[in-house]
Amino acid sequence: MGVISNNASKEASVLTRANHFIDGTWVPSESTETIEVTDAGRGEVMATVPSGTTADVDKAVAAARAAFDAWAGLDVAERVGYLKLAAEELARRQNAIAAVICREVGTPYATSNVVQVGLPQMTLSATAEIALDYRYTERIYNSLVVKKPIGVVAAITPWNYPLHQLVAKVAPALAAGCTIVAKPSEVAPLNAFALAEIFETIGLPRGVFNLVTGYGTTVGEAMVAHAGVDMVTFTGSTAAGRRIGAVAADTIKRVALELGGKSPLIALDDADPVAVATASAGACYLNSGQTCIALTRLIVPAARKAEYEAIAKAAAESVVVGDPFDPTSVIGPLVSDVQRDRVRAMITSGIDEGATLLTGGVEAPDGLDAGYYVRPTVFTDTTPDMRIVKEEIFGPVLVLQTYETEDEAIALANDSVYGLNAGVYSADVDRAIAVGLRLDSGQVQINDGAFNIHAPFGGVKQSGNGRELGVAGLEDFLETTALQLP
Ligand code: NAD
Repeated sequence: MGVISNNASKEASVLTRANHFIDGTWVPSESTETIEVTDAGRGEVMATVPSGTTADVDKAVAAARAAFDAWAGLDVAERVGYLKLAAEELARRQNAIAAVICREVGTPYATSNVVQVGLPQMTLSATAEIALDYRYTERIYNSLVVKKPIGVVAAITPWNYPLHQLVAKVAPALAAGCTIVAKPSEVAPLNAFALAEIFETIGLPRGVFNLVTGYGTTVGEAMVAHAGVDMVTFTGSTAAGRRIGAVAADTIKRVALELGGKSPLIALDDADPVAVATASAGACYLNSGQTCIALTRLIVPAARKAEYEAIAKAAAESVVVGDPFDPTSVIGPLVSDVQRDRVRAMITSGIDEGATLLTGGVEAPDGLDAGYYVRPTVFTDTTPDMRIVKEEIFGPVLVLQTYETEDEAIALANDSVYGLNAGVYSADVDRAIAVGLRLDSGQVQINDGAFNIHAPFGGVKQSGNGRELGVAGLEDFLETTALQLP
């Protein structure tokens, strides 16, 4: 097993992780193939992890199945006791894990600390309370309706908020009484090893949480297709979600999908442009734009186009891009060269399709040639058919769209295959809420309304079909049986 730094410094050595975590112990992979994990800020290999196989998945599923009856049979209070211990242990390791994510994802250290590690701690604790309060049985006329754990859960997660996304699945699944096989993103898997170590440290019963690393097309699909898996919970791209739905169909297992987005922020004509632009820059550029709920389309009144252009440009130019360990950096690099190149290609397509580049562009920010940095970018003079308006870019790129009427603003916002997040700004909160209710979106931020881990989180349309967090997040992992009583 490897070692995680106990401070926020950079480490020069390459960490080798050779084992999966299966049945409560560290098991060598069936394959000697490995996957390199890069330090996003430096563009160098920082670790290797196993490129797992179908045989590794079989072992992990067998362990999860064997552990299921005993785990499901525990009292919920005993199960959530482990979640509380995990939250405490995560808090003890907070700085070390934040440093790991700072390197493997490129999120600035302070943000890593608060969001990448702080949020999962809160989710563990909140889920414990929710699961304790939940009513698992209900009398409906002559029926006793019982909510039971669905079984063995395959959890497949992305790299952008990797520990948050993993914990948002693992915490409620464990609380519900499910056992888990988790596959983190091959791009940023190190934090998942840290979570497995936490479960090992707190003495979670063997087989209840299993970790297999590898590629989506091998390990991921083997998990999805496996007859021993009862449910797949997936966060990632819409393309992968579509494939997962198709593969899972053979075994008719439950599939919960949390997918991509292209989320709009509507500035109503009475909104304060400075407040909108500040919020928009925060919501678009957080984590270098690699945020599924990023508000990447700023929809503004045509009459105030020039004003919004000027302040959106200024807001983007005020975002300090730099080394994620430098406390002055607001955003760091993108996660990988692949992601940086994708984002640059999208910026090029915006220019080629005739949008006006207000600021940013394809060149690396000054002095940041190593690592995967991209300038905060703003486009205007866009049309709804442009790729930069329609497609998820997953980088620090904001596009401005203009409207003449409120109905047109709503139509532009809803003109997307996605529906994960949206925002509405107005001087009149009731007016913003009325517009928010007309948006096809799983979440709508009204003015500066904050992200809430107690509220259900998920998307509509091609942004997905599941709901994580809060009570709905627990219910995703429960199966319903009705006993008809005499
Ligand atoms: P991705 O779809 O490439 O990968 C996500 C995970 O799925 C990885 O673990 C990957 O190995 C696995 N995977 C890929 N193909 C698979 C397959 N055929 N079968 C099984 N598993 C497979 O996504 P990414 O690049 O890691 O993450 C970015 C995407 O995730 C963006 O589209 C973003 O919007 C989305 N996302 C959504 C949410 C949400 O809650 N809705 C949150 C974060 C990220």
